[in-house]
Amino acid sequence: MPTRHKNLGAAQWIADGSTIEVADLTVPDNNPFGENVFGPAAQRARLPKSVYRTLQATIERGTELDTSIADAVASAMKEWALAKGATHYTHWFQPLTGSTAEKHDSFYGPTGEGTSIAEFSGKELIQAEPDASSFPTGGIRATFEARGYTAWDPTSPAFILENPNGATLCIPTGFMSWTGEALDNKIPLLRSMEALNASALKALDLFGGHDAQRVFTTIGAEQEYFLIDEQYFYERPDLINTGRTLYGAKPPKGHELDDHYFGSIPERVLACMLETEHELARVGVPIKTRHNEVAPAQYEVAPIFEISSVSADHQHLTMQLLQSVARRYGLVALLHEKPFAGVNGSGKHNNWSMATDTGQNLLEPGDTPHDNLQFLFFAAAVIRAVDKYAGLLRASVANAGQDHRLGANEAPPAIISIYLGGEIQRVFEAIAKGKAHKSTPKSFLGLGTPVLPQMPLHAGDRNRTSPFAFTGNKFEFRAVGSNQELGMTNTVLNTIVAESIDAMAGELRKKMARKGAREETAVVEVVRDVYLEHGRVVFAGDNYEESWHAEAGRRGLPNLRTTPEALPQFITASTVQVFTKYKVLDKRELQARYEVYVEQYITKVNIEAETAADMARTLILPAALRQISLCEDAGIDALTDEARSLTEEFVTRLRVLETVNAKHPHGTLAKHAEYMRDRVLPAMASVREIADCLERTVADDLWPLPRYQEMLFVK
Ligand code: ADP
Ligand code: MG
Repeated sequence: MPTRHKNLGAAQWIADGSTIEVADLTVPDNNPFGENVFGPAAQRARLPKSVYRTLQATIERGTELDTSIADAVASAMKEWALAKGATHYTHWFQPLTGSTAEKHDSFYGPTGEGTSIAEFSGKELIQAEPDASSFPTGGIRATFEARGYTAWDPTSPAFILENPNGATLCIPTGFMSWTGEALDNKIPLLRSMEALNASALKALDLFGGHDAQRVFTTIGAEQEYFLIDEQYFYERPDLINTGRTLYGAKPPKGHELDDHYFGSIPERVLACMLETEHELARVGVPIKTRHNEVAPAQYEVAPIFEISSVSADHQHLTMQLLQSVARRYGLVALLHEKPFAGVNGSGKHNNWSMATDTGQNLLEPGDTPHDNLQFLFFAAAVIRAVDKYAGLLRASVANAGQDHRLGANEAPPAIISIYLGGEIQRVFEAIAKGKAHKSTPKSFLGLGTPVLPQMPLHAGDRNRTSPFAFTGNKFEFRAVGSNQELGMTNTVLNTIVAESIDAMAGELRKKMARKGAREETAVVEVVRDVYLEHGRVVFAGDNYEESWHAEAGRRGLPNLRTTPEALPQFITASTVQVFTKYKVLDKRELQARYEVYVEQYITKVNIEAETAADMARTLILPAALRQISLCEDAGIDALTDEARSLTEEFVTRLRVLETVNAKHPHGTLAKHAEYMRDRVLPAMASVREIADCLERTVADDLWPLPRYQEMLFVK
């Protein structure tokens, strides 16, 4: 049946009975939030008081885990989980594949009397040794010595994932080699949070007047995604294999009319979103916002921010549940960074800040001169870090999917720059020029000190084109890809900012040791020096403009356009230095990650190229040949000639693709990646060009693939 006849079926959505009901939310027990989380409330209810307090100390203050409490925690956790219908437990971890992994073990063991009993010990809670030898390790661990183990991360609460046929207790863990090397994205994130905590606390001591015992980094990640009818998804081998369409002519209607952005949400989509949010609430993910995005069939969901390690876990759950719940509505969630060429891609805005355990956001301009000095110091530390390690930050968002998005006319370019907002930028510029005392408009808060300009009360203005923007009380890293996990990007961010804070605190200490030094003057001088050296990374203009590329070049900012160019940043001397200094990743661990990422790039492009060649031969070419017969049967030579020459060109280009697919070089990984970029991707694009022409000329009932039009507009 031609695709178009099936559209009617796809458009006629009927709730399939799995839908949630409307509950009376004024009844406290009806609020599902956290009901499947072994969080503080469940812990307090089920743990002996002393055990509860010891566990909370580890969670809140980062004190070392007291293993003597493990048995008590395990037993309470098991009872709680069994009461919720869990039959199995799993150490839930984040290998370098970019997704999560789980290996389920039953709680039940035989008693020897023909019955079984539920057991779960502290030992099983704290550590497991999954035979996870097939995960990428970048050569750290050969498969023949497959000793990798998972270790409980008590800072992220355990939760229950349900399936219609049973439930599983998931225990967040880190995954490492027997020799202590991190094999995952969680351990480095925790290490980097620790590094930033130590640096920030030392800096806060210089400012005095605080009673913070810990500084946390926080993340709120806005997730963009597409939803399309599953019928079209399963008719497209490219979507199944690669997550993006490798063929598809641009539809007559795109997002030009801007009629989708923030528009009313289609009923089926809204029903799906509501159920997704319900499920996320149950596992404790605090979703706050939902709306349509710019492209047709594109949407966004955003949570309330949380401590980085927890929000990185919750991001994984968000991606997982978006995908699983969509299926209940006959939809498929596409998380790829660029599922449709010529249509806006999807990102994940990583809102990031630092906060004390006493509730102070260090990136919030304050009410008092003291708080504002402190704000300027920490904001300057971020500016310094982003400029000094711009290449590394760029590398942390590099993958094959991102290469179709970054720098296209809808997403930040590969050049990392910072947008501060007009008023904050003016404050920094005034300080840099030594004109700090000049009076400023009324909208600014008075600082009552002669050396500082006044601070804006609210940072109002926005620049959507900036990859790294200050938005009032946090920085928003917008270059992150929709399909990316948050661990690595934030590990980089935390580590480089920790280094900057330390470096600036060192300078400040020196200046304050001078005779008759005033704190304000010393801080302003440190901030001035940083801005003079690193202010080049600040850019308030349109990042999408071609002229910015030239300007950025003049400023000496790196422009690492593609993944193969960006990834070597993980193993430069400066990266190794800062990561080893802060004990986040050592040289071997960095090298391993670099190799894993390059291999992933090669593998992903290769899967795309083979899928593209296969679809061209077995789906598109037969359609083109049928079209030729159709023209021949009609006896219209001009049409036959046209169809024939297009098809001949198609075959010529397809042969080139098949040849480059068959002739991968045997050299270094880096050379191999360059081959994929320089030979394979262009060969695919060249075949696609003709395929998309064929799509516009072959008879509609002969065309074998759902078009952009149906995927994007049938809802
Ligand atoms: P906008 O994009 O308009 O600034 P919001 O202020 O609602 O929108 O913030 C967007 C995201 O930033 C949300 O996920 C929010 O939780 C997150 N966010 C807000 N404050 C912080 C913070 N201090 N640290 C990290 N993320 C934050
Ligand atoms: Mg945003």
